[in-house]
Order: sequence, then structure tokens, then C-alpha cells
Amino acid sequence: MRKTFFISAITLILIVSVTYLAYAWGFFGHRLINKMAVYTLPPEIIGFYKANIEFIEEHAVDPDKRRYAVKNEAARHYIDVDRYGDHPFDSLPKYWGRAVEKYTEDTLMAHGIVPWHIDRMLQRLTKAFADKDYTKILRNSADLGHYIADAHVPLHCTKNYNGQLTNQNGIHAFWESRLPELFSQDYDFFTGKAKYIDKPIDYIWNIVRASYAAKDSVLLFERMLNEKFPSDQKYSYEQRGANMMKVYAYDYSEQYHKMLDGMVERRMKEAIISVGSFWYTAWVNAGMPNLKGIEKVTISEEEKKEMEREDKMWRTGKVLDSSGHSDE
Ligand SMILES: [Zn+2]
Repeated sequence: MRKTFFISAITLILIVSVTYLAYAWGFFGHRLINKMAVYTLPPEIIGFYKANIEFIEEHAVDPDKRRYAVKNEAARHYIDVDRYGDHPFDSLPKYWGRAVEKYTEDTLMAHGIVPWHIDRMLQRLTKAFADKDYTKILRNSADLGHYIADAHVPLHCTKNYNGQLTNQNGIHAFWESRLPELFSQDYDFFTGKAKYIDKPIDYIWNIVRASYAAKDSVLLFERMLNEKFPSDQKYSYEQRGANMMKVYAYDYSEQYHKMLDGMVERRMKEAIISVGSFWYTAWVNAGMPNLKGIEKVTISEEEKKEMEREDKMWRTGKVLDSSGHSDE
């Protein structure tokens, strides 16, 4: 009887901690990045974004929720760069059309499409600005912010995305959720002003390149720390709402964070300025429509229903496409 209770308690903890793993940058990080990006914007559009900052922040995590409602959504959040040979950046075509010709769409979908999807979202946001469709501007801005933020995470750019190939399971959420939640209050988020991006596709690939270059340190430092740290002190349990969760212990997290030497902060800041710059670029490319005086946008009933549907599927469902970086 007692044993059964014990086992089911352990099962519960496992379920809760596994579910926790599934969100890139954590809900906390994504919201923060989208929110801070608003403050990088120039006078012509900052008023519009500020009036709707709650929406931009709250919906920063819609794309992660959508993985439960939309088939093929999962692939939009990452790219396994190391699936493309020893010199992947020489092999991978910058543009989607050429990439499909070279590798087929099935292969690209299997290994993740985040760089091309950011480019696609930029086009959508540009069109929304040109159409002066305020709801779409907000939804596409929130979504675009999410994918750009994901591309800044080193473990979103490798097939060893959760350390599963090197016996480091759990490192994905450790780096992108646990560390920012514990330490981001000390980060300096001064990033300067959003800039117009001349060649968005090159900018996107540079983000991926930098993430990919950082992934070896992300994995190596945790491996080194794991070797010297007392294994019985590596994890602790924390109350989250009604649930008890297994988490990386504070001391372990702090030491790892120190070894990374500001990397999480740098990637987060880069994400913020990139998001602001992409929003700004979309607006410029749409012919700089006048947004002054536009206050808080009322979301249509239809759009609300669609968002509620995604939210409900996320709360009750499973990721529809089980391939890729799903940690479940
Ligand atoms: Zn994501």
C-alpha cells in the first residue's frame, strides 16, 4: 500500500517534470523577450506596440501551444544543423525553395525549419502591416518573436537537443528555462535601438550559426560540472502550484550559469534586439504605414475563438507531430 503510494508519487513527479521540459525559453523567457523587444522600437511604432504590449507578451508562447493543434508546427521551432554534414553552413541553401530542391521537403521537415520559417513569418508580418490589419500585425509579431527567440537557443540548433545522445537528458530546459528563471533578474537588458535589416535571410542564418557555435560549450560545461558535483545534490524538488517538481538544484544551476560566463544573458539580449529589428524591418518594407494614434486593438470574436481552441488543445492534448524536438 505504502509502496504503491510512493511509486505513484514518483510517477507524478516525473510526469510533471517531463511536461515542464516542453517549452522553449520557458513561458517566462519568451514573454520577457517579446516584452523587452517593444522598448527597442522607434517613435513611429512604439506607441502602437506599447498600447498592445499585454497581447505581445501573453501571446509570445502561442507557437508552443500550437504544436498541440497544428500538424507540422513542431518543426518550425528548431533546426538540427548537424544533420547536414561536416560543413553544414556550406551545404544548407539559404532559401527555402533551393533547400527543398536539394533535400526534399520531408527531410527538411524532419530536421527542423526554423530559419526558413522566420523568413516566412517576416513576409506575413510585412503583409499585415501593408494591409493595416491590426490583429494580424499583433499575432504575427508575437509569433515572429517566438521563432526568433527559439533560433537563439543553442540546443534548438542541434540533433542532440536535450543531451539525449550524451546522457545529459534535461539540459534543454535547464539552459533555456531554469537558468533564466533563476538568474535573469540580474541581467542587463539594455540592447540599444532596433535597426533596419538589409538582408534578413543572412541575418537569420547568422543567428543560427552563433547558436550552433555555442552548443558545444552548453553541453561540455554541464558534462564537466556533472563529473565533479556530488550526484545526490544535483537535483531538488520545488512546489509549483499544486505540483511537486524535480528541478536542477540551485547550487548546481548557479555553478553551471557561472561556467557559461554570461552566455544565457547574451543570447537573450541578442534575441530581444533581433525581434525588435525584425518588427521594425517588416514595417519599413510595408511602406511605413502610419500607426500613430492607434490604441489598444480589439481582437475579433473569430480570432479569439481560434486562440482559445489552441489553448484548449494545449491544455488537454498531445503534440500532433511526434517527430523532432518534442521532449515528451
Ligand atoms: Zn518554440
